[in-house]
Amino acid sequence: MRTNKLNLRREIKNLNKAIAMKCLDCVCCQAKEVLRCQITGCPLWNLRPKRLKGLYTIIRELKKKNPGYYQAES
Ligand code: SF4
Repeated sequence: MRTNKLNLRREIKNLNKAIAMKCLDCVCCQAKEVLRCQITGCPLWNLRPKRLKGLYTIIRELKKKNPGYYQAES
């Protein structure tokens, strides 16, 4: 039972991270733009991150995985 709860929590965390990564990719890694997104027709709109906490860590991870893909912030 406990193992199932832990697995479920891990799955939810992974799904939230995947959604955050997609949203960050969508806005070229500008974290604040994810919060300001007004594309209500997007299937991820209700699920997108609602606060900045953790987004900069994910941005670093995305840039590390895809060097040169995202432009440096000015
Ligand atoms: S919710 Fe907004 S930021 Fe996220 S993928 Fe959709 S359009 Fe892009």
